[in-house]
Amino acid sequence: MKPEDPTHLWQSFQVELQAVSSKAALTQLRDRYLSRQRGLLTLQLRGLGRLAPQERPRVGKSLNQIKGRIESALAQRRRELESEQRRAQLESERLDITLPGYLPPQGRSHPLTRVRREMEEIAVRMGFSVLSGPELELDHYNFEALNMPKEHPARDAQDTLYITENLLLRTHTSPVQIRTMERQQPPIRIVVPGRVYRRDTVDATHSPMFHQMEGLVVDEGITFGDLKGTLEVFLRELFSRDLRVRFRPSYFPFVEPGAEVDIECIFCSSRGCGVCKRTGWIEIMGAGMVHPRVFSMVGYDAERYTGFAWGMGIDRIAILKYRVSDLRLFFDNDLRFLRQF
Ligand SMILES: [Zn+2]
Repeated sequence: MKPEDPTHLWQSFQVELQAVSSKAALTQLRDRYLSRQRGLLTLQLRGLGRLAPQERPRVGKSLNQIKGRIESALAQRRRELESEQRRAQLESERLDITLPGYLPPQGRSHPLTRVRREMEEIAVRMGFSVLSGPELELDHYNFEALNMPKEHPARDAQDTLYITENLLLRTHTSPVQIRTMERQQPPIRIVVPGRVYRRDTVDATHSPMFHQMEGLVVDEGITFGDLKGTLEVFLRELFSRDLRVRFRPSYFPFVEPGAEVDIECIFCSSRGCGVCKRTGWIEIMGAGMVHPRVFSMVGYDAERYTGFAWGMGIDRIAILKYRVSDLRLFFDNDLRFLRQF
C-alpha cells in the first residue's frame, strides 16, 4: 500500500476544524483523526511497518509532527470554544441596571394611629404603662363607679348608645381607670388610648365614634401641682414646642377639683385667629384630682391616696397637629387624603 501523503492529512484536518462550532463536534473530529482504533492518523502510523525500511523514518517523523500539530490545534480550538461559551453565558445573564425598578405599593400608618403612637411613646418615656379595656362596657364601669349615679345629667340618653339597660358602648376611656384600680393597689401610672362612642350627628367636628386617651396617676402625696407639671411636660412634648398651658376651673363628676386645660394657640401664637376663635387659647383636654368617692368605689383608702386623671381626644390632637379642618376626612378612608401623611 502506498502511504498517504501526511501533508494532505493535515490539510483535510484544518478544513474540518474550521467547521467545528461545538465541543461535541470537536470531540468527534479528534476521534476521527486520533482514535486508538480507527483514527485516520493512527491507521497511517500503524501502516508504517508495511513501508520500505528506508522510507519509515522520514514518513514516521512527518506523521508524528502532524499528530503534534493536530493535538495542539484541537487544544487551542477547545479553549476558544470554552471562552465563547463563557462569553455567551455572561451576556445572557447580564443585568441592565439602568432599567427603572418595580416599586411595590407601600402601606403606611393612618394619621390617627401615628398620633396615638406618638402620645403613647411620650407617656411611656414619662413612666406610664399603656393599657386598654373593653369598648362594650357595663353601666357600672362607665357611669356608676365614676360617681355618676342613675339620675346624673351626664348620663343623658341622648349621648349614650345603649345595647341593653346595663350594657353600652363606652362613652369615654375612663372605665379602664376603675377596672385597673380594682385589680391593683397604688402606685398607678397608666394611659389608656381607645375608641369611644356617643350618639352624635356627623359633622366637621363630631363623630359617633372617636378616640380618646385617658391618663391616671394614683399614689401617696400626689397634688394638683403634679397634675399641672405632668400635663405641661406631656403637651410640650406632643407639640414639640415650649407652649404656655392654662388651667381653668371646671366640673367633671369623677374629679374634684376639675379643670379644663388650654394651650396657647399654635397657629397664631396667641395673637388670635379663626382656629382659637380670637381667644389665643385652644381647649385641649379635661383633667382633675380623682374624686374621693371614686376611690371608695374601688376600695382605696381616700385618706391615704390621692391622684389625678385626664382625658383628651386623639382625633382633636391630630386635627391640630396636621391642620386638618374636617374630622370626617380621618374616617372616609380616601387614599388621596391618607397618602399625604
Ligand atoms: Zn389662634
